[in-house]
Amino acid sequence: MQYADNRELRKEMFFAFNTRAYKENEFNNTQIIKDLAKLRYEKAVLLGYNTWADYILEERMANTKQIVMDFLDNLKDSAIPVAKAEIEEVTAYAKKNGFEGEQLERWDFSYYAEKLKKEKFAINDEVLKPYFSLENTIDGLFKLCTDLWGITFKKNEEIPTWHEDVMVYEVYDKDGSLLAIWYGDYFPRPGKRAGAWNNTLRDQWMEGTEDVRPHVVNVCNFSKPTADKPALLTFGEVETLYHEFGHALHNIFAKGNYSRLTGTSVAWDFVELPSQLMENFVSEPKVLATFAKHYETGEVIPQELVNKINESSTFLSGLATMRQLAFGYLDMTWHGNNPEGYSVEGVEEKSDVTRNFYPEVDGISISASFSHIFAGGYSAGYYSYKWSEVLDADAYAMFKQNGVVNKAVAQHFRDHILSKGGTQHPMELFKNFRGREPKPEAMLVRSGLLKMP
Ligand SMILES: [Zn+2]
Repeated sequence: MQYADNRELRKEMFFAFNTRAYKENEFNNTQIIKDLAKLRYEKAVLLGYNTWADYILEERMANTKQIVMDFLDNLKDSAIPVAKAEIEEVTAYAKKNGFEGEQLERWDFSYYAEKLKKEKFAINDEVLKPYFSLENTIDGLFKLCTDLWGITFKKNEEIPTWHEDVMVYEVYDKDGSLLAIWYGDYFPRPGKRAGAWNNTLRDQWMEGTEDVRPHVVNVCNFSKPTADKPALLTFGEVETLYHEFGHALHNIFAKGNYSRLTGTSVAWDFVELPSQLMENFVSEPKVLATFAKHYETGEVIPQELVNKINESSTFLSGLATMRQLAFGYLDMTWHGNNPEGYSVEGVEEKSDVTRNFYPEVDGISISASFSHIFAGGYSAGYYSYKWSEVLDADAYAMFKQNGVVNKAVAQHFRDHILSKGGTQHPMELFKNFRGREPKPEAMLVRSGLLKMP
């Protein structure tokens, strides 16, 4: 869709993709999702709730349907004008580059957007990779954690692992006591699952008076080093590495009585706060200067490249936000009401806030293949992607206001968020850290939806 010059082929792809599980054949999901929504509703009512969303949200940070809807509405108001301007910009660019219609169809948009992005930012993975060797990136991450929390890392090759690629470190607190064992499993191999994640081999808990410390694992799938090149990461992979380590810190700093309530065992819409918070540091010039060094020359990544990374990160973010919000509304329409008598088409028309951005297209469906909310665990929870962004941007703003690498703010974050796990309501934890409830401004500024106040 982004690269195919053949417009008919793009259109064909668009329809093929957007009619998955919605074609007139035995794989059509329409009845199945209607049944799912109805059964969930009935289960919630049996348990004494008004809707499925009321049942799910009771144990989330965003406690009620009203909170979620207000949250989506508020972001929508900020994103709409930006999204409209973005469409105008891409349309004007397309017209200058051979597009002959008035309005870009859905199958034209990402094609021209990709060309425009290339022209504006001229930045790609291959230019950046030499500055991000895995070794330097991990050194930089450990140094950042030492600067923030005073913790130190000691490689221990005596500890057995499940594969020779796996690295093991002991993590020590600033007073010298052992906090955790941390394993990094970073390279693909036959039989290993794709993707990136954090998990524990052992959680933290109190066994009588003994504080049992956790064993924490970070898994990624980066390209292996070769004979003449170290393992080099794309910028996105560096963010992933920091992200997973943010989850690891939640486990490493855990301090509670019961493993069920420590570390990352927290509300669904709260668990990405530490991980996404850590991602912010990667775009920070002063942090990059400590580790983003060319693997051959040792040259620190030029400021010009850093600027381009940061500028390109907000490209078309109004539209990206609107798309996420549309998914959020769709989810809440299916799960926040009695779905009796609902049709797939009706629900989609009601909730698609991006509908008038493009010429209308009939015969497609998102719901039929929306596995997050129908087959995954995201029912009445899709909003949490944006919710977590608000949390991490707002929390990070506190670091930023205090010079980024600030020990006092870091300690505060450790005391009120990282060490607490799920022992208190996440809103209480956040308020104890931030002094108030979360505000969306920092996220809006970061994604270019709001000019710096
Ligand atoms: Zn995560």
